[in-house]
Amino acid sequence: MQFKELKLNKPIIRALFEKNYEEPTLVQERAIPAILAKKDIIVSAQTGTGKTAAFALPILQLLYDKQDAPKKGKKIKALVICPTRELAIQIEENFVAYSKYTNLRTGLVFGGASIEPQKEMLKKGVDILVATPGRLLDLHKQDFINLDYIETFVIDEADLMLDMGFIDDVKKIERLCPEGKQILLFSATMPFKVEQLANSILRNPEFVEV
Ligand code: AMP
Repeated sequence: MQFKELKLNKPIIRALFEKNYEEPTLVQERAIPAILAKKDIIVSAQTGTGKTAAFALPILQLLYDKQDAPKKGKKIKALVICPTRELAIQIEENFVAYSKYTNLRTGLVFGGASIEPQKEMLKKGVDILVATPGRLLDLHKQDFINLDYIETFVIDEADLMLDMGFIDDVKKIERLCPEGKQILLFSATMPFKVEQLANSILRNPEFVEV
């Protein structure tokens, strides 16, 4: 299969070409059409399968067609949460690379680092925010993050998130986002607790397993 068949726009395809991606991986082939159709999905895939692009590419595609004015007044429309700072950095790097030829902006917030530069970045506005749960809630409480315009909410490494005790934070963040948003849940393994979480917040999800 070709990326073109997945109905991705030219600026995104161009960025993939530059990264030497020749064709979509299996998880991308299966997840991208469902995400573009605005379905909730549960994806069971390990790191290394191309799972980050499996959610980043369709999110960029969905936002690309209705971009705000280039810089000012951007609202956060997609939120990705993950358990660790290292993972958050990697996810953000992916979004930045794939959106190189668009006006879409991605921001990154995580704990254990100075909060001031993160506040400055948020003031300028981003379309997509990648975050670890604690720092996200902290910045939200301080009114630097508005989740009222979230259209797509991604929970990455859900199993690790639960192992690390973030379950209540994840639920809280979900409730802070508008009703009717699309939710994408990614997890390497599917223990009962992840299934329980998925059942409690996803609507009629499609399952992708690779
Ligand atoms: P991930 O599973 O998201 O951690 O991705 C693993 C690695 O595969 C990353 O270095 C990606 O840049 C790379 N990758 C993702 N999708 C593709 C693709 N379609 N073709 C080649 N490499 C890819």
